[in-house]
Amino acid sequence: MTCYLSLGSNLGDREKHIDNACRMIAAQCGSVVARSGNHYSEPWGYRSEHTYLNICIRIETTLTPIELLDVTQQIERELGRTQKNVYADRIIDIDLLFCIAGDGAPVTCRSERLTLPHPLMTQRDFVMVPLHEIADGQTIETYIQNHTQ
Ligand code: ADP
Ligand code: MG
Repeated sequence: MTCYLSLGSNLGDREKHIDNACRMIAAQCGSVVARSGNHYSEPWGYRSEHTYLNICIRIETTLTPIELLDVTQQIERELGRTQKNVYADRIIDIDLLFCIAGDGAPVTCRSERLTLPHPLMTQRDFVMVPLHEIADGQTIETYIQNHTQ
């Protein structure tokens, strides 16, 4: 399965947190085959003095989507993320954007813990700008069509 992820950090050494997260994802989830450049942006949906560093990556994994969520949430905890509330400063945030099965079919999920494609991704420039560096517009369109808000 191919999966596009969004990573963000706005506390402490942001570049280090993002690099560590990429290394841990490569070791525990599967190969990181593309990585966007670094993008800096103001917090989205709440006010804070701490600017975010955001990137997107593309991985190849044999994990299922829910296993991928389990592992990335474990990585968030290992990197020191404690709070789980949204719209708050955080050392690391790893979100699953959209996934493509081996046969090219879009992977969707509507469970309490996981929504795929990510329902808010198209509303967030901090996701879409780095995402466009590693995926062409047609690919993004094809795999998120009719699934986002
Ligand atoms: P946010 O990323 O929106 O700032 P959190 O990282 O605190 O907020 O995630 C809140 C919850 O969102 C997680 O506990 C997770 O179960 C759920 N979730 C649902 N869909 C996704 C997804 N596509 N990627 C990551 N988390 C998701
Ligand atoms: Mg998250």
